[in-house]
Amino acid sequence: MNFHTDYAMTIDGKAVSAAATIPVTNPATGEIFAQAPDCGRDQLDAAVAAAKAAYKIWKKVPIAERQALVAKAGDILIAHAEELGRLFTKEQGRPVDAARQEVLMAGEWLKSVAAMTPPIHVAEDSAVQLIETRYVPLGVVCAIAPWNFPVSLAMWKVAPALVAGNTMVLKPSPFTPLCTLKIGQLLADVFPPGVLNVISGGDELGPWMTSHPGFAKISFTGSTATGKRVLESAAKDLKRVTLELGGNDAAIVMPDVDLDEVAQKIFFGAFYNSAQICVATKRLYVHEDIYDGLRDRLVAIAKAVKVGDGGEQGTVLGPIQNKRQYDRVIDLLNDAKTKKLTLFQGEAPSNGGYFVPVTIVDNPPEAERVVQEEAFGPILPMLKFSDIDDVIDRANDSEYGLAGAVWSKDLDKAVDIARRLETGTVWINQNLNLRPDTIFGGHKQSGFGVENGMEGLLEFMAPQSLYLARA
Ligand code: NAD
Repeated sequence: MNFHTDYAMTIDGKAVSAAATIPVTNPATGEIFAQAPDCGRDQLDAAVAAAKAAYKIWKKVPIAERQALVAKAGDILIAHAEELGRLFTKEQGRPVDAARQEVLMAGEWLKSVAAMTPPIHVAEDSAVQLIETRYVPLGVVCAIAPWNFPVSLAMWKVAPALVAGNTMVLKPSPFTPLCTLKIGQLLADVFPPGVLNVISGGDELGPWMTSHPGFAKISFTGSTATGKRVLESAAKDLKRVTLELGGNDAAIVMPDVDLDEVAQKIFFGAFYNSAQICVATKRLYVHEDIYDGLRDRLVAIAKAVKVGDGGEQGTVLGPIQNKRQYDRVIDLLNDAKTKKLTLFQGEAPSNGGYFVPVTIVDNPPEAERVVQEEAFGPILPMLKFSDIDDVIDRANDSEYGLAGAVWSKDLDKAVDIARRLETGTVWINQNLNLRPDTIFGGHKQSGFGVENGMEGLLEFMAPQSLYLARA
């Protein structure tokens, strides 16, 4: 079948097609609805060369001008949130309102980061000497994004990298390339040619990028398994690396909570975006005194929530984003069924789309795969606890350390528990809340380096200390 495609890559400010294309599937139907360019190796070289040439100019542009252009990019995303949101739903699966919300959030993120200026540390400013440290850009950044939050996680990289004075070649996931390609085109006139290049391609393109000698830095968001490959590849020429990876986040629910008040929040902290969130609650530890009450409430929500095509009115949760991930989630579900674990499930369509019913696993043994592995799909194990030291040990007994949550009316006690969790982010009586001015990063195998906050900006820069003799 031939697909007319108006999805172009952006290389050196120009719209560029490729000799081949990759198919893009609507996960709500399982049907291919568009084709995206499959970037050739020579085109990657051209994008890196354009970014390298642009870097010589862009790094000298005063930071205030760079900030103004990044803020303008944010306004453009916000102005196009409606059309980008509709396209987002088609390629990613998330319901339209939430899809538009991500584009708006990404726009706001660009604007917030555009207001950040790296510090200058002065150690001495005397008649004898000036000793100060400033931050300088790194060069050309390789940015690789995942499919679960394709627009915002890409902009988390674009904003600080460009404010810092770097140029970039950005690659979206082959499962969700379209919005990012559109954004590349929308921003082609905002930045000088070569500053922001957007390319798309299949499974080979990521490894080509991470091993390309033209990059000074790799900013990667994706799975822990791929993150390890990226780090290995970067070691060859010691590229700077930031890795935002997987998680298996625990939430601990204390017996003093108001169940009616927290049930909805806990439910969507686990299942929003059909649970395809790095920081979703993936293990829910509930005090034995309230376990049955919370389980019954969560099961009631699971049965009431509409799972379906994100383009349809009333849909709350969309499909799993792609077939590869769908197969993984189904495998985990089948494993739970084989082990005869008790499952409570909602409804999901069976129409060829990648739908999985919302599933709550009732107090499985800790060693089960459904507890130990990152599902990245709507399967939530609920586990009973009675002793707080024991539950903290169980929560921390993971190779991951991305985020965690504590639910309690006793805020002092909750803070004490939260501080004992071995994760980069801890929430108390809330979840999924992330901000551009606050550091985000994983402990253990959930990450390497950080994004957001001043430290996130500085990951795209190198310190340079100056010693000036005045006398
Ligand atoms: P993935 O690792 O399969 O792919 C991520 C990106 O890497 C894609 O663009 C892919 O094309 C590319 N890629 C694949 N192999 C590569 C290689 N060898 N070299 C370079 N690039 C390569 O991850 P995914 O399935 O797209 O995303 C889901 C995972 O991402 C989950 O584990 C989730 O927890 C994690 N995630 C983490 C964060 C975070 O901020 N910590 C945010 C979102 C998602």
